[in-house]
Amino acid sequence: MAADRTDTIAAIATAPGAGGIGVVRVSGKRVPDIAAQLLGQAAKPRHAHLMDLCDAAGQCIDTGLLLLFPAPASFTGEDVMELQLHGSQAVLRMALRRLHELGARPARAGEFSERAFLNGKLDLTQAEAIADLINAGSEAAARAAQRSLHGEFSQQVDALAAAILATRVQVEAAIDFGDEDIPALSLQGLIAQLTQAQSGLQALMQAAERGRRLNDGLHVVILGRPNVGKSSLLNALAADERAIVTSQAGTTRDLLREVIRIDGAELTLVDTAGLRESHDAIEREGIRRALSEADRADLIVHVVEEAADVPLERTQTAERLVVHNKIDMSHGSPCREWIEGVEHIHLSARSGAGLDLLRESLAQHAGAGASEAGSFSARQRHVLALERALESVQDALRALAQQGSWELAAEDLRHAHAQLGEITGAVSTEDVLGQIFANFCIGK
Ligand code: GDP
Repeated sequence: MAADRTDTIAAIATAPGAGGIGVVRVSGKRVPDIAAQLLGQAAKPRHAHLMDLCDAAGQCIDTGLLLLFPAPASFTGEDVMELQLHGSQAVLRMALRRLHELGARPARAGEFSERAFLNGKLDLTQAEAIADLINAGSEAAARAAQRSLHGEFSQQVDALAAAILATRVQVEAAIDFGDEDIPALSLQGLIAQLTQAQSGLQALMQAAERGRRLNDGLHVVILGRPNVGKSSLLNALAADERAIVTSQAGTTRDLLREVIRIDGAELTLVDTAGLRESHDAIEREGIRRALSEADRADLIVHVVEEAADVPLERTQTAERLVVHNKIDMSHGSPCREWIEGVEHIHLSARSGAGLDLLRESLAQHAGAGASEAGSFSARQRHVLALERALESVQDALRALAQQGSWELAAEDLRHAHAQLGEITGAVSTEDVLGQIFANFCIGK
């Protein structure tokens, strides 16, 4: 009986505060029975029943609507019931208490989505897209999450996984039977297949990285010597005077953050202490923080005064662009150019000339704008899994082409396939699932 009792979960799915509609969602085997007890009659599927919700003593809690979605045509794939009530926390809590008395238990965070995943209603990337949609910080991020929810990302992952599996089967057949016995099999053919999988993975990894940036927001760190105009640039982009700008070098000792939106993409800009040799302990601490922030950046905007400074080489991981500020002083014109693969933008934070070029560049780095078409939301875990799958395919290529080891190649391909399976949840351990769903809200 105890197991039966815990099968059914209930939680507040929407609680908008006074005035709005609150939704309580219930999922599990006892749902039809609970619905019948609340209505005094069996609930009709997908029909809005007007209901007086009463407590155990028969006292009315609220009047609202009850909707029943029988399994399997429901969000979780189980019997699901939704109660639409007045959105006050007190009413919703009383409603939940009543549901608990009738045999439901409180849902854990993400448990509805987890059940939808376990019942094959969603794959993992789609379940994650729900959380991303709820947390979307920008319209572009919401649109990208919507596309993931519709399976655009998973379809591409599945197609690559299928191609890699097909190659692996051929390689294993060659090991078992010897390649002479399989006329259709040629080493060149296998290498061609793997080369194609390699470029597919590279393209998907780039798209996933764009999706991750749309989702998380691009983390941009502004670095440069004192007084080159870092704070002025942050202010000009954020179009207010949040950072204190002074002509005395070394004012921005702590990190200042601004979240801005360009073309629907979210960016966090971090202004840092000017980088220079300093004996001042507080300033040195500011510089240490600036450099450690730069280690976690997606993009470093290195500000220099027109032709007067040499770009820093301290940060290797993030992409970098060099802003040549104060062109008004040298009577230069705004421009955007690439020198030896590094992007340079000439502008004036004070006059605003060339700021549009910087905005355009930031939007592109953030994954917004023209390149948004077809983009989907993704997470760091997806990018890392794609990266590992790509490495394994490259190992397999080397094993076949250079080492002539079919066994090694088969093992590498098995690994690549498993990595892709982890993205959509086709292959997943309970640990991974626990981590993913624990980050959801309760009621989702
Ligand atoms: P930070 O130390 O790098 O953050 O530099 P600030 O933003 O505090 O700017 C230092 C000084 O340079 C201030 O007096 C700013 O008004 C000035 N400044 C910033 N940008 C420009 C610019 O584009 N043109 C000119 N002429 N002065 C600027």
